[in-house]
Amino acid sequence: MEIKEIGEFAFVDRLTKPFTSSIAQGIGDDAAVIEIGGKSVVLSKDLLLEGIDFDLTYTPLRHLGYRSVVKGISDIAAMNVLPKYIMIAIGISARFKVEDIEELYDGVKIACDEYELELIGGDTSASLTGLTISVTAVGEGEKEDICTRKGAKVTDIVCVTGDLGAAYLGTKLLEREKHVLRGDSDLKPKFDGFEYQLERALKPRCRTDLIRHMKSISLHPTSMIDLSDGLASDLKQLCKASACSANIYLDKLPITETTYDLAKELGSDATIAAMNGGDDYEMLFTVSINDYDKIIGINGVSVIGHITDKQYDTVLISPDGAEIEITAPGHNVS
Ligand code: ADP
Ligand code: MG
Repeated sequence: MEIKEIGEFAFVDRLTKPFTSSIAQGIGDDAAVIEIGGKSVVLSKDLLLEGIDFDLTYTPLRHLGYRSVVKGISDIAAMNVLPKYIMIAIGISARFKVEDIEELYDGVKIACDEYELELIGGDTSASLTGLTISVTAVGEGEKEDICTRKGAKVTDIVCVTGDLGAAYLGTKLLEREKHVLRGDSDLKPKFDGFEYQLERALKPRCRTDLIRHMKSISLHPTSMIDLSDGLASDLKQLCKASACSANIYLDKLPITETTYDLAKELGSDATIAAMNGGDDYEMLFTVSINDYDKIIGINGVSVIGHITDKQYDTVLISPDGAEIEITAPGHNVS
């Protein structure tokens, strides 16, 4: 059987079915939660493979180091906890020099300084198949801080941080200009006006600022997931875990003006990029309707819809009232 026939999520379910869990939160959320000494310790692991998760033609190693850390710690933040420690394992093929991997680690250091993380270990090996990076991230919080994908309730408000689709379209632009960057063409790459989308593609942020801010105003989200696969897929994951559905309003999706411009330039669609693009690393979360005033007071958070009963479909509603069912097969093994 081909993995793509059943999709990533069903594949992981199949593999992990024989294993039982004794911990507070086992397989199935953004990170695992273990209770130790009255505290919750949160752990996640990510794998980045050359040619699959990154392309070194247009990804500077420093950015790759930074992005690998962000990808790792974003799953800790998605549990409503601040990340604290990381471990990094790298597989290095013969073409990389000491200075190259030092450059990668410069990016790791920048992320460690910015997010107040400690690098506490890892592993190093030779690789026959290109550069491989695995990041383990650890955070620690109070038991009552933990927020899983499971707690969304009917009438809860659906919120998202930042803006969507920029990372995906930024990557598409880099792909288009790849032959120029490789030196196969005398033309200059055309990136003017789309610096923001390039930055989102190469150097995404982790929204630890939201986690800090919500704690400071005693706002506890009812459920949360980080946007790594795209709004459609991650919303469906959240709804599945919470046994509910959602209405999302098309005109509420936060998409930056220049992201629309870039979509046009690439013959693409900004809404589709926002729904299915992925790699935004923004937070998708739900809060009780009673917290509406608190949530609209947070800068950079958009209310995009609300939770509905599971008997309904999860839909995207256009301004004229037309409903499109949101589907997400989750076929990408990433
Ligand atoms: P995310 O996109 O938030 O990183 P994933 O979809 O990769 O989450 O993973 C969902 C859940 O499945 C997590 O709990 C993760 O730890 C678990 N998981 C993913 N791959 C494996 C695997 N090969 N073996 C065991 N658990 C896995
Ligand atoms: Mg996640």
